[in-house]
Amino acid sequence: MTDQPAAGHTLDAGVPRDLHAFVAGLPKAELHVHHVGSASPRIVAELAARHPDSRVPTDPEALADYFTFTDFAHFIQVYLSVVDLVRTPEDVRLLTYEVARDMARQQVRYAELTVTPYSSVRRGMDEKAFMEAIEDARRSAESDFGTVLRWCFDIPGEAGLESAEETVRLATDDAVRPEGLISFGLGGPEIGVPRPQFKPYFDRARAAGLRSVPHAGETTGPETVWDALRELGAERIGHGTSSARDPRLLEHLAEHRIALEVCPTSNIATRAVRTLDEHPIKEFVKAGVLVTVNSDDPPMFGTDLNNEYAVAARLLDLDERGLAELAKNAVEASFLDPAGKARIAAEIDAYTAAWLAP
Ligand SMILES: [Zn+2]
Repeated sequence: MTDQPAAGHTLDAGVPRDLHAFVAGLPKAELHVHHVGSASPRIVAELAARHPDSRVPTDPEALADYFTFTDFAHFIQVYLSVVDLVRTPEDVRLLTYEVARDMARQQVRYAELTVTPYSSVRRGMDEKAFMEAIEDARRSAESDFGTVLRWCFDIPGEAGLESAEETVRLATDDAVRPEGLISFGLGGPEIGVPRPQFKPYFDRARAAGLRSVPHAGETTGPETVWDALRELGAERIGHGTSSARDPRLLEHLAEHRIALEVCPTSNIATRAVRTLDEHPIKEFVKAGVLVTVNSDDPPMFGTDLNNEYAVAARLLDLDERGLAELAKNAVEASFLDPAGKARIAAEIDAYTAAWLAP
């Protein structure tokens, strides 16, 4: 096991180096990050070595090239080749534990990791073994790295209602659902996949005590965000990028403290936004919306959470105090209990005060 920092990310130019150093040590919470999409070249190399019949390179250098996407179709192709490497419960355990290690290196104290159990179970993995694998990794990560993980099970929207039925079953069946599960999501494409059709599944998940966190308004307009709020009871919105086009929606989000999970670099990689300078994060802040910054599928988008904070610092013109507030937004918008929130917020304050002390 190598002990280098997660490869594949670049530092946002235009941010002073000492601000990067501040971000690197800042305690953080991450609310929008995908399980398989977090596999860094280091982790993919380990998985590929376990399955020599796959065509994924095992050498981290070659993998860095492999992870350089030419377009979105190429991204999907690479993503699916990584999905194909996660074949056994031990692969799931290794992936999850190593993702937590990469998070801990970035001072992530708490993460709500979006997991798509349907992808593994449909491919024949035993559902209980899958749940045991993620839970084993969660407990080990917490004791070994001090990073607390919680799960969001998401419906892969492109796989249709059958996947919704299966995901809600896995999320609500007491004999199967893992202890760390706290929320229910919806990912995949939005175009041609209307949110309201998933209402019955979200109703069941919410009745079982899970929080609602669908992706919405990433590649479609603000009406999709309204659908997520009205039909799916969304308590936070994944991306919500197009909300900027609807002042009434921004007002609603601000008034009800419904946070947006903003993932700037992802939005550029998927072309949801043309350039970083055109990113609506400034409008969200100006409208008083609770903004959190997240990494989505970090190695696949050539980023990590620290870099997303640096990007946000540049776009929002933040200094250390502003970055600390941003980190506290994620703590506030998380589904941690009040004591857990207070603990991380106090840690952020102490770190910032020590950094700024003369
Ligand atoms: Zn996402």
